[in-house]
Amino acid sequence: MNWNFQEIQERVEEETQGILSAQDLEAFRIKYLGRKGMIQEIFASLAGLPDEQKPLVGKGANELRSRITAVIEKKKTEIREKENQARHPLMDITLPGVAPLAGHRHILTQTIDEICGVFERLGFTVQEGPEIETEFNNFTALNIAVDHPSRDAFDTFYLDKPDPKNKGRYLLLRSHTSPAQIRIMQKHKPPLAVVVPGRVYRPDAVDASHSFMFHQVEGLLVDRHVKFSDLKGLLTVFCKRLFGDKIKMRFRPHFFPFTEPSAEVDISCYICDGKGWLVHSPSAKMSLPRDPKGSKGCSVCGRKGWLEIMGCGMVHPHVFEAAGYPQNRYTGLAFGLGVERIAMLKYGVQDIRIFFENDVRFLEQF
Ligand SMILES: [Zn+2]
Repeated sequence: MNWNFQEIQERVEEETQGILSAQDLEAFRIKYLGRKGMIQEIFASLAGLPDEQKPLVGKGANELRSRITAVIEKKKTEIREKENQARHPLMDITLPGVAPLAGHRHILTQTIDEICGVFERLGFTVQEGPEIETEFNNFTALNIAVDHPSRDAFDTFYLDKPDPKNKGRYLLLRSHTSPAQIRIMQKHKPPLAVVVPGRVYRPDAVDASHSFMFHQVEGLLVDRHVKFSDLKGLLTVFCKRLFGDKIKMRFRPHFFPFTEPSAEVDISCYICDGKGWLVHSPSAKMSLPRDPKGSKGCSVCGRKGWLEIMGCGMVHPHVFEAAGYPQNRYTGLAFGLGVERIAMLKYGVQDIRIFFENDVRFLEQF
């Protein structure tokens, strides 16, 4: 029998292309290297060959065997790699990447930082107080009378934890950041100037403008000879830094138990420039009789032209007394503002609830 090794080699090459699985490979091995395989057949045929052909055919068979063995090894590795890849797909670096979402500070945190930043540049330091307070710090020390309605359980979250220092009294979630004033004054002597940002709690039903939890920033400055004019100057600078130089300020007499005299601070509406209406809006369907024709009432200030921003006043002598300061030595100014209200005014947000819903579509706008 004549063995055409060239032809066999070509056939082997061709068949190699068709080997895709371990089963294909095994069938290929058996066909050539098995006990009844082609290589065995070639060797078996040697006996019947003329003597001069024997070495040539033997050599050809040996070469063929080592080539086929090499092919099998190579294919084995290829198949194993392919199977591994199917089980654990490798990263395809040609695919376009998925950019990770970059986080940033919450709009309320940004607003707190902005408010505190203005005061820090004016020489104030930022301090924080605990959210769980004593009735003394939250009410009594701040000159809030025992019969004041804000002390009622309907208006304050009392905890099921007795006040360790005051028998018969219970701890509560602070209803304002003002108790921090007491803590700071008990620890430090004047002169002092601090701002205190933080969460406060009131059992209010949640609606577009109320939440059971919101944020305040409290300010306190105590020294000798602090005057109401200092308070006006300080808050005017603050409001202008926050809302722009154009705004006008208005201090309305008000009552707070912990300050005397007290005032509420308004700024002229920065949307309508204090006019109460927006200049010529072709889409305006409704106009007030006193408004210029075609103008639209300003929804930010509710056509008032003024925005209520914060409360303030000169620290009440009873508060100094509760903090343990000597009588008639110091005077001080205090103020407090709601962070959500500032953010709502500044960014035109209509509903307080949206700050706490964690809706990324809202949060990523700021
Ligand atoms: Zn307005």
